[in-house]
Amino acid sequence: MRKNIVAGNWKMNKTFSEAEELIDQIVVGMEELSLKCEVIACPPALYLEMASDYAEESRIKIGAQNVSEHEKGAYTGEISAPMLASVDIEYCIVGHSERRKYFHETHEQLAKKVDILLDYDIKPIFCCGEVLEEREKEIHFDVVKKQLEESLFHLNKDEFSNLVIAYEPVWAIGTGKTATPEQAQEMHAYIRSLIAGKYGDDTAEETTILYGGSCNPGNAKALFANKDVDGGLIGGASLKADDFLKIAQSFE
Ligand code: PEP
Repeated sequence: MRKNIVAGNWKMNKTFSEAEELIDQIVVGMEELSLKCEVIACPPALYLEMASDYAEESRIKIGAQNVSEHEKGAYTGEISAPMLASVDIEYCIVGHSERRKYFHETHEQLAKKVDILLDYDIKPIFCCGEVLEEREKEIHFDVVKKQLEESLFHLNKDEFSNLVIAYEPVWAIGTGKTATPEQAQEMHAYIRSLIAGKYGDDTAEETTILYGGSCNPGNAKALFANKDVDGGLIGGASLKADDFLKIAQSFE
């Protein structure tokens, strides 16, 4: 049976002490809850080792927000997959729309990031999704298809089984404008059908597909109630432990 996941993308927020306080609050909060999902926190790179120490003593999992496509060398400022693996990081977000937009990450680069993460046994959380103009032109299905085909569909079935997909309509990220449960379900079902076409029904059924984009404690239940929505990638609402944990409790 596929896993439900709620993952928090902290982006470039929190000082060290604030980050430690937040992870501590999440971990302590989780101790009292019986959750029907895996919980992942993705803090800034500087705090990964600290967060990873918390993960050793609790059920929380830790993810990075980005990785270099290179293994090592003269790439000032970058962080590599072996570095992440050396502090026991289990997941890494790849292809977030902010990285596609501000850092001009290409399909090819993202494919390399996915490959190197898998080489180091780190599970990619691969983000896909259309911008508003693409939805208005009704080409959102084609856009998402291309993103998956160009960056993921070179993988073999075994490799693909380590992936988590996050559908994040860009017009919903940080805007307060959430996709309706119907819009989310429609795209998630489409993504699952693409996976089935490429890797077979069993792989498609086992793949966790998260929704991301202004998900909050008020709308998470309706989104997660859809049969192809297996949880969320949460930005803003992951910065408050209470809100984040409420979202994690939104599975029937
Ligand atoms: C995100 O950045 O992945 C995200 C979903 O952000 P927000 O929840 O703030 O829209």
